[in-house]
Amino acid sequence: MPAPAERKGIEATKKMKGLMGGYFMELMGESASDKKVAWCTSVGPAELLIALGFNVYFPENHGAMLGATRMATDLIPLANARGFSPDICSYLTSDIGSYIKGESPFNKMNLPGPPKADVLVFNTNQCRDVQDWFQFYAREWDVPCIGVHTPRGIGDVDDIIIQGVARQIKALVEPLEQIAGQKLDYDKLKEVIGLSRECTELWKAILKTAANAPAPLTFFDATIQMGPAVVLRGTQGAIDYYKILLAELKQRIADGVAAVEGEKFRIYWEGMPIWGKLKPLSMQFMELSTAIVASTYCNSWIFDDLDPDKPFESMARAYSELFICRSDDRKEAYMETMIEKFKIDGVLYHDAKTCPNNSNNRYDMPQRLQAKTGKPFVVVNGDLNDLRLYSEEQTRTNIEAFIEQLAEG
Ligand code: SF4
Repeated sequence: MPAPAERKGIEATKKMKGLMGGYFMELMGESASDKKVAWCTSVGPAELLIALGFNVYFPENHGAMLGATRMATDLIPLANARGFSPDICSYLTSDIGSYIKGESPFNKMNLPGPPKADVLVFNTNQCRDVQDWFQFYAREWDVPCIGVHTPRGIGDVDDIIIQGVARQIKALVEPLEQIAGQKLDYDKLKEVIGLSRECTELWKAILKTAANAPAPLTFFDATIQMGPAVVLRGTQGAIDYYKILLAELKQRIADGVAAVEGEKFRIYWEGMPIWGKLKPLSMQFMELSTAIVASTYCNSWIFDDLDPDKPFESMARAYSELFICRSDDRKEAYMETMIEKFKIDGVLYHDAKTCPNNSNNRYDMPQRLQAKTGKPFVVVNGDLNDLRLYSEEQTRTNIEAFIEQLAEG
C-alpha cells in the first residue's frame, strides 16, 4: 500500500505567522496601539484608511478564521435567532454569532476578540451583505458606518463608473478626517498606494508561479498565503514577506519541486473556499495527483490599476475591475485567459449556498465556458462557512468521478 500523500509545507509560512500575529497584537493585544480603529471590507478603500492613521481591521478575515476553525457552524444559529436569515452570507452570520457568544478564534491567541470600531467603511463592489453586516455593529456601538456603492454586473469599467466611484471615495475623506482627528496627508496616501501596488505585484507573481507545470503551490496554499495581501496591503511588512515567499517558490521551480507529487491534472477553482474542509480536500486532490493551480478567489487581491499618481481614480478603477462585480461576459473572458495561461484541464465550481455573489455556476456559465474551451467542469455544492450545507461524502464521490473523467480524456 503506498504511503499516504503529505502536503509540502512552505518554509516562509513561519514568517507569515509572525507578521500576522504582530498585526493582530497591534489591533487587540495588551499593548495595542491607541490608534483609532476602522473596519474595512476586504476590497474596501484600505489605503485611504491607513493614510489617515487608522488601524484597519477586516472582519472577513475573522469570518474565514471562524470557518477554518469550524467554529462557524455552531455560531451561525445565534445570529439566525437574532434575525439574520440562514440563507445570507455565513461570514456575516458566523461573525455576528461570535460577537453574541463572545467567542472567537482570536481567544486561542490570547486576544480578547475583534476590536471595537470607531468607524465602519464598506464597499458594496462584492455584495450588499457587507453593508448590512457593518450596519449591525454601527447600531450596536453607535458609531458611523459609511461607504462606497459600486455598480455590479459591470461590462466596461468606463469613465462614468470611475468618476462616480472616485467621487464617492473622495466624499469619505471629510467624515473620516473628523473621526481620525487629523487631515489627510496626500503624500502619505500616495506612498500607501505605492506600497499596496508593490504588494499586489508580488502577490500576482506568487500566484503566477503555479502556471509552471508542476505547480510549486496550490490553491490550498494560496488561501493561507493570501493573508498579508488582504489585511496588510499598503504596508512594508507584506512586501517584505512576499519577496521571501516568491524566492522560495522560484527555488521550488528551479529544483523541480511539485506541490502535488506526480502532478497529472490541473484544475481551476471558481468560487469561495470551503474553509472548514481545506485539509481533507487538499489531501483528496493530492491522492488523485491533481493540483488546483488557479482560482478566482485568490486572484481577487491583485489590483493592477493602483497608481500613486492618481490616488482616487486608480483606487476606483482597481476596486471596480474586481471579478465579482463584473458582467458574466467579462468573467468568462477572464476565465478563458486563466484556463489557457495555467494549462487547466478542468474547472471546479463551488456553489456556496450563502454567497450567490461569488457562485458563478447558476446562470449557465459553466456550460458556455465548456463549449468555448472544451474543458469539462464539476459543481460542488457547499458553503464557505456553514458546514451543514456541505456533504463530504457526496463531494468526495463527485470529485473522484470528475478526475476519472479527465483521465479518460
Ligand atoms: S462576497 Fe459572499 S462571502 Fe463575501 S461578504 Fe459578500 S456574501 Fe459574504
